[in-house]
Amino acid sequence: MGGANHALGLTSGAGILLSLIASGQAQSRSALIEVSGLSRSTVTERLATLFEAGFILEGEQSKPSGGRPTNMLQINQSFGVVLVSDVGETHVHSAVTDLEPGLLVETTDPIDIGDGPQAILAVIARQYWKLLKRLKRAKEDVLGICLGLPAPVDHLTGRVFGPSVLAGWDDFAVGAFLAAEFDAPTLIENDVNLMTLSEARRFWPDVDQLLFIKAGTGIGSGIVTDRRLYRGAQGVAGDIGHIQFSTTNAPLCRCGKLGCVEARAGGWAIARDLRARGFEAKDARDVVDLVRKNRPEAINLVREAGRVLGEVAADVVSLLNPSVIVIGGTLIAVEEYLLAGVRELVYQRCLPLATRTLQIAPARSDLRTGLLLGAAQLVIEARMQPAAIEQTLERHRKGAAATRPQRARQ
Ligand SMILES: [Zn+2]
Repeated sequence: MGGANHALGLTSGAGILLSLIASGQAQSRSALIEVSGLSRSTVTERLATLFEAGFILEGEQSKPSGGRPTNMLQINQSFGVVLVSDVGETHVHSAVTDLEPGLLVETTDPIDIGDGPQAILAVIARQYWKLLKRLKRAKEDVLGICLGLPAPVDHLTGRVFGPSVLAGWDDFAVGAFLAAEFDAPTLIENDVNLMTLSEARRFWPDVDQLLFIKAGTGIGSGIVTDRRLYRGAQGVAGDIGHIQFSTTNAPLCRCGKLGCVEARAGGWAIARDLRARGFEAKDARDVVDLVRKNRPEAINLVREAGRVLGEVAADVVSLLNPSVIVIGGTLIAVEEYLLAGVRELVYQRCLPLATRTLQIAPARSDLRTGLLLGAAQLVIEARMQPAAIEQTLERHRKGAAATRPQRARQ
């Protein structure tokens, strides 16, 4: 009995230590002792559990000026893998990442979103099995799964919230389907939220308050407050595309309302205005093409769209006081015309205190990579919590016990 208690104590301590290493709060033995308040021998013992499982590595020695070299502890990036997908209306991009996260393999399958969740999730599952096989990794190596969907989602139950472009998905337990297939925790998240998380963590690691605006064919945004994604009560926080402004001749939006930001500045709305001027254009990509061909009408409309985005961004800045606004999406390809308008309106309308240190910057990652890495990031952060680490260690122990007799026979 004493042994069982001892084993339990050992694992539960290991989870806390690993979460301290993963979050960067403590990355050496002495720092772990200091932050955790545990004795040196206890820390050594619990680290042994993590080393044995292959969860951590002792990295190169760092040499702080004048100080003694320290062995740095770090997560073993190839301890496990994460399965991620970006589900769009016509394609699904799937990938496997390590725990950095970095993309190991990726692939694209054509789909029709109208086929419904069951058919599309089957495509995704098949692809995951293939990708795992290519990497010679097993189901047991999967730390978690995350799907990015173009809809508001209930992050906690793994379902889509209400009717959206994803017809039939709102009744389906999306997360549970893949969780059962791979025996791994599965998250679903709104696609813009994933891009937001990826930009925030990869390129603005010290920024706690960040607003991401996706300016593509449609317009949306993601909000990071105190380093966490802000989702709102129904998963639709950040839906700035359908904020209405009273304007003269307010244009009709795709949502049926008049004067929405998207109906004035979305790629589809700019394309509409270009068609009215005799150009062929249907979406944000066509708009970018025309700007790159130096068509003054297209350049003007993108500049004007930047000012509309600036109008709504100014309101958001007054409300949330972010330190950084990152603007991504297809239209950012012509950032020289888009960002000027955003900056102009934000600095004009906001209080100097809110804009004194505010940075407005283009997204640094392309949408697909950002989304896939954001999905992996979400899984990794969830799985690096102490309780989740205990589960992983437990699963690892069982897996090791199961393979032992098999090895003995060989
Ligand atoms: Zn609208």
